[in-house]
Amino acid sequence: MKNLIVLALVIFNFPGLFAQDIHYTNFEPTVFPDRIMISVSGNPATSRAISWRTVFEVTGSIGEIAVLDPSPVFENKVVTIIGTHSPWEEGSRKAGEHIKNSVTALVETHPVNQKKNIDSADDPAIWIHPLFPEKTVIFGTDKKGGMVAYNLKGEELNYFPTGNMNNCDLRYNVKLNADSLDVLAASNRSSHSLSLFRITANGILDSVHPRIITSHMLDEVYGLCMYQSRLTQKTYVFINSKAGEVEQWELFGVQNSLDARLVRSFQLNSQTEGMVADDDMGTIYIGKEAAGIWKFDAEPEGSTIGVFIENSSEQNPNIKYDIEGLAIYDSGNGEGFLVASSQGNYSYAVFERQKNNKYLGSFRITDGEIDGTEETDGIEITSIPLPGFPKGILAVQDGYNYDGRKKKSQNFKLISWEDVEVFFK
Ligand code: CA
Ligand code: CA
Ligand code: CA
Ligand code: CA
Ligand code: CA
Ligand code: CA
Repeated sequence: MKNLIVLALVIFNFPGLFAQDIHYTNFEPTVFPDRIMISVSGNPATSRAISWRTVFEVTGSIGEIAVLDPSPVFENKVVTIIGTHSPWEEGSRKAGEHIKNSVTALVETHPVNQKKNIDSADDPAIWIHPLFPEKTVIFGTDKKGGMVAYNLKGEELNYFPTGNMNNCDLRYNVKLNADSLDVLAASNRSSHSLSLFRITANGILDSVHPRIITSHMLDEVYGLCMYQSRLTQKTYVFINSKAGEVEQWELFGVQNSLDARLVRSFQLNSQTEGMVADDDMGTIYIGKEAAGIWKFDAEPEGSTIGVFIENSSEQNPNIKYDIEGLAIYDSGNGEGFLVASSQGNYSYAVFERQKNNKYLGSFRITDGEIDGTEETDGIEITSIPLPGFPKGILAVQDGYNYDGRKKKSQNFKLISWEDVEVFFK
C-alpha cells in the first residue's frame, strides 16, 4: 500500500525580522517562496505541514506532490493541494488583545530616514512654542544617526545628524548665567556621552556644550530623562545603561555654554532604560525592563533605595515586559497619571501619579485611519492644550509603521489625550 503524505500548506508573509543593534544583512521576501519549513501537523505518520514566506502581494498558494517512482513521467500522478494563506502576525499583538480600551492616532510623523527594517526611531520629546502653540515641535531620536524635528502635522522640519541618539528629554528656563534657555538633552551612543542642545524659537537644535560630556558608566549610555528641582531650581540629566547603572548630572553655565558635573550614581542590577522625573513631586521613576517600575528621590542627596510600584510586576496580566517608555500626565494640583509602554503586549499601562501610584488600567493604540502602534519604545505626554489636542498629546514611537499593507520606516504617532482619559476618569 502506498502512503500518501497529506500536506497542509500555510504561507506566512512577513517583511523580515527586526535586528537588534548589531550588524546584519536583511533578506527581504520576494514573490518566490523561501524559508521553507516542514513540520509535524496532526498524525506524524500521515501528515506534514509545510510553510514558506513570500511578499504580501502573493495571495495564492498551492503545493503539488507525487509519489516518487522510477518513471520520468510522473505528472499524471500529481496531487494538487491548495494552501491557506495568512499575513505574518508580527510580535505579540495577540498578547494584548484582551485589553479592550483602545484609541487611534490622530497624526503620524514622517518616517525616520532609515531603512524600513531598521530599529531606528526611539524616544520623543514635545517642545511647546512660548507664543504660538501651533508651532509646537515634536522631537524624536533616530538611534541610527541623530535627532528629528516634526510639526504638529507630523511633517519633518529638520534633521540633525548628531550621532546615535537613544533617548531625549527637555526642560524650559534652564539657567545659564543671567540668561535662561530651553534645553534638550539626549543620550549619545556614538560618543558614550550626553548631548545638550539649546532649542531656539524655530525649534532648531544648537549644540550648547563646550566639550564631550562623557559618561563614567562601564556599559553604553542608554536611557535618559531630565529633572528640574523645585527646591533649588537646578536642572539635572539622569542617564542610565543596560547594566542598570544610573548617573545624575547637574547642568551649569560656563560663559555662553552649558556643562554638566556628575553629582550622584547608583546601580539597579537589572536592565534599565525608560525614566521620567516628576518635578513637582521631586521623584524619578525608572523602569527595570524585566522587573517593573521603581520610584526614587530625584534630589542628588536623596536616598538611592527605590520604592517598587505595585502592579508594575509580572503578576499583572496586562503588562508584558519590557517596560519601556515612561511619561507623566500633569492634571495640576499634584494629580495626574504615570503612563508606561508595555512593549511585550503592545499596550500602555496607566497608574495614578499621586500616593502609591495605584494601577488604573491599560489601553492600546489600534488601527484607524492611521495604523496602530506596536512594540513602542519611548513615549512623551504634555497636558497643555494644543491645536487639535484640547487635553494635550500623547506621543509614542511605533515599532511597525504601515501605510495600508506597505511597511515603512518607523515613526511616531500623536494621540489626543482626550481620547485616553475617558478610560481613567
Ligand atoms: Ca525598538
Ligand atoms: Ca523622552
Ligand atoms: Ca529598551
Ligand atoms: Ca504600527
Ligand atoms: Ca528604547
Ligand atoms: Ca503609518
